[in-house]
This record gives sequence, structure tokens and C-alpha cells, in this order.
Amino acid sequence: MNQNILIIGAGVAGLACAQQLIKQGYNVRLFEASNRYGGRVKPLLGFSDRHLEAGGQTIHHPDNDYYKMAIEAGAQLEIGGDLVGSIYDPIQKKVITYKEFENLYQKESQSLDDFIQDRNQQDEPVLQRLQNKQYNMEFIHLFQALYGSEYGASIEKIGARAIGRYEFDMPMFVSDFEIENHFHHINIFDKFFKDAIQIIEYNKQVLSIKIIDQKVLVDINGEQNEQNEQNEQNVQNKYQFDYVVCCVPITQLKKLIIEPAFDETRQKQINLVGMDKGGKFFIKLDKKFLQHEEDFFIPKFNHNSLWWDSSSENDSIIIGLLGLSAHNRVMEIGIEEFAKEVIQIINEQYQVDLNVLSYHYEDWGNTPFIEGLYSYPMSGIDDNYRQIISAPHLNRLFFAGEAFHPVYYSTIHGAYESGINAAKQIIK
Ligand SMILES: Cc1cc2nc3c(=O)[nH]c(=O)nc-3n(C[C@H](O)[C@H](O)[C@H](O)COP(=O)(O)OP(=O)(O)OC[C@H]3O[C@@H](n4cnc5c(N)ncnc54)[C@H](O)[C@@H]3O)c2cc1C
Repeated sequence: MNQNILIIGAGVAGLACAQQLIKQGYNVRLFEASNRYGGRVKPLLGFSDRHLEAGGQTIHHPDNDYYKMAIEAGAQLEIGGDLVGSIYDPIQKKVITYKEFENLYQKESQSLDDFIQDRNQQDEPVLQRLQNKQYNMEFIHLFQALYGSEYGASIEKIGARAIGRYEFDMPMFVSDFEIENHFHHINIFDKFFKDAIQIIEYNKQVLSIKIIDQKVLVDINGEQNEQNEQNEQNVQNKYQFDYVVCCVPITQLKKLIIEPAFDETRQKQINLVGMDKGGKFFIKLDKKFLQHEEDFFIPKFNHNSLWWDSSSENDSIIIGLLGLSAHNRVMEIGIEEFAKEVIQIINEQYQVDLNVLSYHYEDWGNTPFIEGLYSYPMSGIDDNYRQIISAPHLNRLFFAGEAFHPVYYSTIHGAYESGINAAKQIIK
């Protein structure tokens, strides 16, 4: 209990880990590089009268503690149900429902089943697999949405084998839950991670972690602020701990100096975990777009994005999850032009007459200390890469965060569980 522990990063993983260790009586410090907690969980306030999340939103499984905590905190969770949606059919040159698409284009609609079937075959990037297996590449917008944006990835890089195995490993009962009342994930953090939030030391970016003689030495790039100045030890930029739990995104782990360095096998796997730039694009429209309850829609863009309707009674809102090529398009033409371009394409393909009232781009690709959406496996990665990258380093340095959950990576509840697991490893 006298051991000093440092948690790096105040996202859901770091907060969950810190909370657990504080409860057990450990001396815990929590360094956060930015000036806020939550990481990739962040409410989008002031855009609509509907509660919107700028980052993580859906709870993907009900059989986990994070789901239970959400209910206990007061969130009203509604099951997503059968996916209802529409897609632009470039062959008939019109929009069809997803059900119609499934009937008309069975091969393309079963591509995920094929990935599962082929999960033990040689690996190749999804784009290559689709081309080799002669899928109709007119539907590239569908593949870019489902295997690009949805996986936070680029279909040129994400591995087909890893997708097949990921989907196969999922428990049979998989459902998506949306929070339906005016409630944000951050409210769940505020209720359950109170002690952890209190100890956060902001604007402290860890630069290096060195394990020497059973101690962990940490260098930071810290700014002085009022909060920091109260604590004398913070005046210096070097710290010593018994254990460190690193809860930063994989993009940031790749930048850290770690000594002794990881062995070659592990470093290779870390290098093959991708996390592309991207973000969430919000557009408020002058009139209601989708007349029936459609969960998602996939117009044919030249970039990877997945869109859904998130209207309230008063506001008509659409949201796009933008992958790398869509993000690059925003950077190229600017946020306003991108909103107009998207609506012009929707107007043409859906034969509607929508106008943009306002827009917002939550740019996770350029958010300092995050720099991307979420982790994904690149082609050529080992089957058990998540286990390899999350093993404790010399029993002093531990890892948590969405990238380090063996099954539910890229999710809020996976990141939460990974934080709890890291705490358990130390308590053991
Ligand atoms: C647009 C978008 C949509 C998403 N949608 C969903 C969804 O619907 N459902 C779902 O389950 N998940 C979703 N996710 C994923 C989910 O949000 C993340 O998996 C989860 O929030 C990650 O938590 P984490 O604690 O691992 O990392 P983060 O939340 O990224 O926290 C890491 C923290 O570490 C800090 N940090 C980084 N480097 C350093 C350093 N060197 N020193 C100190 N601190 C540092 C960062 O500032 C950050 O606060 C989405 C993510 C995005 C971006």
C-alpha cells in the first residue's frame, strides 16, 4: 500500500484504474497532458437541444460493468435493434433500403460473413481482399463505411484476417445501446470516478518512462499552473514511482521513450496497430431529412464516412464518422465547404432539397495527445497481438486503454475494463 503509482492519461481507462487503486488505499498520482479529463469521451454542448457526444457514444454490449454503471448513474439506454438504413445504389443510380440492398447484392452484403469464414487464411488489406475476391467495387462507399470509418481505419491498411477473427470472437449476444435521455458519458465518469478526478494533475505530458533498479523514472513536459504550483514536487519535471500504468492512445505510446526498449516482437506488433486521423462531423439542416426511422445512410462519396440521423423534435441533425480520406478532404477544402459538398451529394442522390444551417467538426486527428480515432489492426499483424502489446513491461510498467483490451478494443467499455484489469494486476 505504501507503493507509489502513476497513472498516465485521464481517459476512461486511466480514471477507472486510478479509482480502483485509490479505493484500495494506494498512493496514486494521475498525470494528464491536456487540460481536461475524459479523453475521447466528450460531450458536444450547445449544438442541439439533443444530447450529443463528440467522441464515444454507443455502448456496444450489455454484459459489462460499464453498462451497469450507466444505468445506475441514470442513463436511459435503448437498444439499437435491427439496423435500418439506406445506401446509394450506383448500378440503379438510386437510393435503396439496406434490406433491398441485401436482397439485390447478396455477395457484397455478405462480405463480413466471408471475412469470418476466411479468418484463418493468409492476411491482406481489406481493399485487396475485396478486389481479389471480385466483389463489385462500385460499392466501395459501402466497404469504406463499414470497414473503414466504422473500424476507425483505412481499407487500404486494415487487415481482413484480423476483422474476421474480431467478429468471430465476439460473444453471440451483441447489441448496441444508445443513451436516450439528456445524459452524457461524462456524467457516468463524474459519478463513479470522483476520487480519481480529484487527483488529476493537468498539463503534464509524460515524455519518457525508464525502469531502473525496480523503480520507474518518468520525465514530463509540464507547464506550471496554479494547481501544480500548490504541490512542491511538481516544480521539477522528473518523478520516481514503484509502478506506472500507461493509459494513452497508441499514437502517443509510439512517441514515448521507453527504457529498456520493448523487444522486437512486441515493437513489431505495436507498429502494426494503426490509428488513423478522423473525426465526427455534425450538420444541422433546415428541414427534416429522413422521413422514417433510418439508423444510417451511405451516400456514395469519394471518401470514407458513415452517416446517421440524430435529429431531435426541434432539430434535424445528421452525423458523419469520418475516416482518413474524408478527414483529409475536410483539411483540403475546409469545414464549411465540406458541409456544403456533403449536402450537395445527399441532395443529388436522395433527391431532396436540404440546406446547411450550421455545422461542427470534432477533429480527433488534430486533437493534441490523441491524434486519431481508435486503434485497428493493420494487415500482417499477429493473431494474439493485443495480448502481446498489453503484457506488463518488466513487471513495473502496465498498460490500459482501448488498444489494450483483448476483445473489446476501440470501445468505451473495453477501455474501462482494461483500466480495471491493470489495477487488478498491480493489486495482485
Ligand atoms: C469519433 C469517435 C467515436 C467513437 N464512438 C464510439 C462508440 O460509439 N462506442 C464506443 O464504445 N467507443 C467509441 N469510440 C471509442 C472510445 O471513445 C474510446 O475507445 C475510449 O474513449 C478510449 O479511452 P482511453 O481511456 O483508452 O483513451 P483516451 O480517452 O484517448 O484517453 C487517453 C488520455 O491520455 C492523455 N494523454 C495522451 N498522451 C499523454 C501523455 N504523454 N502524458 C499524459 N497524458 C497523455 C490524453 O490527453 C487523454 O486524455 C469513439 C471514439 C471516437 C474518437
